[in-house]
Amino acid sequence: MQQSAPNVDAAEVAKFTGLAQEWWDPLGPFATLHAINPLRLNWIDAHARLRGKRVLDVGCGAGILSEAMALRGAEVTAIDAGSEHLEAAREHARETGVDVTYLQTTAEAFSEQHAGGFDVVTCLEMLEHVPDPDSVVAALARLLVPGGQLLLSTINRTPRAFAEAIVGAEYLLRLLPQGTHEYARFLKPSELGASLRRQGLQVRELKGLTYSPLTRSYRLTTSVAVNYLLYAQAPLPGAGSDS
Ligand code: SAH
Repeated sequence: MQQSAPNVDAAEVAKFTGLAQEWWDPLGPFATLHAINPLRLNWIDAHARLRGKRVLDVGCGAGILSEAMALRGAEVTAIDAGSEHLEAAREHARETGVDVTYLQTTAEAFSEQHAGGFDVVTCLEMLEHVPDPDSVVAALARLLVPGGQLLLSTINRTPRAFAEAIVGAEYLLRLLPQGTHEYARFLKPSELGASLRRQGLQVRELKGLTYSPLTRSYRLTTSVAVNYLLYAQAPLPGAGSDS
């Protein structure tokens, strides 16, 4: 499927499938995703109030966020273009007993059958790996119920992001495997915001996620110069558009 789906870069997905067995190692190549998980989970839960919600996690990897949202009481479906790490996700869910439905598909293909099917859609650390992020954003918008909530994260395209997210994180601090990110695929918040508004969504919050090498910890900040989280909402029927 990686080869044939139009908006999947097989080489990008292979960066993640090749490490399928290491996803759940908190000190392995995805240590950063483990480290930021409580922070982003709390941010998502504060906006989306996950308990009882139908949630779709797009580009779920081996389910680090998907499982955590299910543990907060959400009914989680999680999709990814890669096969091996989805298998690792299923295996982990069997071990922990956490209930998540994992499917190998793309947002675009899934949205054809499930338009309007989710209260909450999450898509974290994925948009910077796809050839056409606008096409993903359009699919994410289609998947939401009216008034539904979309929680995203990606990396800004700034000199500072190049220095910190690529040179710093991949080469100096070795927080991520080398080659994880390509600078040209980073997205400015203004570009992502414009893409969301073209789909009729309203941007409700933009937050920076900053790593401090001194304390080796992450926190939410007002600076969106490198990593950022974005919360957007689908319009309610009858609501005038202010975008
Ligand atoms: N969202 C997870 C994993 C991020 S890693 C987290 O934040 O913890 C990026 C994931 O996106 C990988 O698992 C990769 O296989 C997936 N991916 C990349 N391109 C994709 C696409 N076009 N459709 C679906 N998944 C994709």
